[in-house]
Amino acid sequence: MNITGIVYRPPYEANSLLLQVTLGCSHNKCTFCYMYPNVPFTVCPMKQIEADIEEAARVCPNVERVFLEHGDAFVLSADRLSQIAEAIHRKLPKVKTIAMYASIQNIKQKTDSELRRLCDLGIGGLDIGVESGLDAALTYMNKGHTAKEAREQLLRLTKAGITYSFNAILGCGGAELWQENADATAALINAVQPHLLFIGTLHAQPGCKLYEDMKSGIFKECTVGQLLDEQERLISLLELEDTIYFGSHPSNIVSMQAALPKHKEEMLEVVRETRKSLQDRLDEYPVRGGEGSILNR
Ligand code: SF4
Repeated sequence: MNITGIVYRPPYEANSLLLQVTLGCSHNKCTFCYMYPNVPFTVCPMKQIEADIEEAARVCPNVERVFLEHGDAFVLSADRLSQIAEAIHRKLPKVKTIAMYASIQNIKQKTDSELRRLCDLGIGGLDIGVESGLDAALTYMNKGHTAKEAREQLLRLTKAGITYSFNAILGCGGAELWQENADATAALINAVQPHLLFIGTLHAQPGCKLYEDMKSGIFKECTVGQLLDEQERLISLLELEDTIYFGSHPSNIVSMQAALPKHKEEMLEVVRETRKSLQDRLDEYPVRGGEGSILNR
């Protein structure tokens, strides 16, 4: 089975079958994104998808979860997604969930009944880069949605029965708006009560606008201390009923996985302990390697 271009997938999709249905990202203009430079967005022909499913049925017939590639496969019409899901279930009968990256705009383009139909076909576990609840940050990051739209569309997903991961980025508001970013993002997360909260930290690599803006000072990055303060503030404001906190992205200063609300106090303690251990480096900026990994942790 061939996949064209660099393959990105969420860490928790490590055991899923990766099936390419699109190439690139239909939006492809987030300020911080370096995933698909110069990759024109393309929808894969159904024949190719069916051939890949046939091959998967020979190679891994017992697979239970499929992750559709690339950057926002949920952009496909409900009819095309239904066609793909039906083809998967025909050849891979043990598949329970068909997950993929999705944007807020992708959800907006589908009706309630289409969302319910997709849920009935096993589509769920969407991985959604909401990034922030602060409109100023969303505008600068060029996400293509507002906080209000994110709230409305995520609630529609939940109503349709589709589960998802709410991806948020610490540091999205920069050094000037880290408190506002924590407050607004916590308020949005509380309003939608995601099943999974995936936390990363803002970083930039050559090839994206943010990298140039950080270099020229147009965007002021958070210091180590500000990132820890933002994370503590965000966690302390979360009022969640039953959410998995997945914070093991290499870009995070504090790497942790926990359940909320159960582990809230322990999580806050871990952030405070980390701040103490980094006391003489709080004014530094994180030194980063590949995928934003922190080298001066
Ligand atoms: S939606 Fe995702 S893949 Fe597309 S440009 Fe934004 S961050 Fe990159």
